[in-house]
Amino acid sequence: MFDSLVVIDPGAGEAALVERIAELERVKSAAAAGQARAAAALDATRRAAEAATGVPAARRGRGVAAEIALARRDSPARGNRHLGFAKALVHEMPHTLAALESGALSEWRATLIVRESACLDLEDRRTLDAELCAEVTGLHGLGDARIAAAAKAIAYRLDPHAVVDRAAHAATERTVTIRPAPETMTYLTALLPVAQGVSVYAALRRAADTTVDGRSRGQVMADTLVERLTGRAAAMPTPIAVNLVLSDHTLLDGADDPAEIPGYGPIPAAVARTLITSTATDARTRATLRRLYTHPGSGALVAMESRARIFPRGLATFIARRDGRCRTPYCDAPIRHTDHAQPWATGGPTTADNGLGLCEACNYTKNNPGWKVTTTTSHNHTHTADFTTPTGATYRSTAPPRITAIPLSHLEIRISNALTTHAA
Ligand SMILES: [Zn+2]
Repeated sequence: MFDSLVVIDPGAGEAALVERIAELERVKSAAAAGQARAAAALDATRRAAEAATGVPAARRGRGVAAEIALARRDSPARGNRHLGFAKALVHEMPHTLAALESGALSEWRATLIVRESACLDLEDRRTLDAELCAEVTGLHGLGDARIAAAAKAIAYRLDPHAVVDRAAHAATERTVTIRPAPETMTYLTALLPVAQGVSVYAALRRAADTTVDGRSRGQVMADTLVERLTGRAAAMPTPIAVNLVLSDHTLLDGADDPAEIPGYGPIPAAVARTLITSTATDARTRATLRRLYTHPGSGALVAMESRARIFPRGLATFIARRDGRCRTPYCDAPIRHTDHAQPWATGGPTTADNGLGLCEACNYTKNNPGWKVTTTTSHNHTHTADFTTPTGATYRSTAPPRITAIPLSHLEIRISNALTTHAA
């Protein structure tokens, strides 16, 4: 289907190859514009059909963004952004859409313009659209930062109050997130109002300015951050509470199967063993260990099914460890709910097989009309979930091949500060 795009003549000559690269970049922009038109049309068609069957206006169009995300192999959060972008371009910003179609803008740069205009009313948004994109030669040579700055400057001029209001709203989205970094490091990210963010950074820099002990400025700042947040020295061997999931072979036999910190991801076997050993030799911390699938008190196997509607804690833990992250394809968000694939109300059992770890948003999406999820557990314990959307498109989600492949041989270790109280 895409032969005309992917077949390249290596003997074409350098100038022709460069022109080919440029041409394909225009194709990507045009494809993004086509996706935006299709997304806006899908949303309009769905809403019209729902209106015809008497669905209240406030409930129309639910789940459309999630369907767009699946079709684009993207997360539901990005699906929301794609749909908002599509509707803004198609219905309100014709010049930006035309610039995208012609290749004068990339999808990301068009997204930046839509984002910077989001706080404006329709009339101002149309004005911004025309001022910035009606004459596409003005866009030539502008990188991401200059495009965003140009859009922002127009928005400030058109409606200074809207921008201030948006800044006030943005402060409500302050948050702290974590994601893995290479070499068993992690990025801890705080999204803060600018005054707070600058003062936090200034406080860490001040600590670095007044400390001379052979550590680099970056090291002092990082250590100070840990010390002030956790109340204990950064050099102490373990954080306050870390769960580790690893096989008994990794713990006892020196095997190389990676261990996992739920909510973080895999860590090398050797790093996991070091973490446990340093804990065991430090009186201020303790490690508690339990077999993941056995009941901590009786040693009996955790029941893999229940007659109750709510998943019992042991079974929910099993499903959370099995799935790792939200099971919607491409979502990757942390698990917040254990949900029935086939709803309890329609006879879906409370079992490991019919259970899914989902994030909050995906849990709601899955309950929209026309969505269906079916699950199977194969003879080698691989769990698959097939998501069917209202248009009949299907997407498969397979649980990561780790715990489920070797039941009963995985251990969960909770490493905790001695001052922390918890049920082991
Ligand atoms: Zn999700």
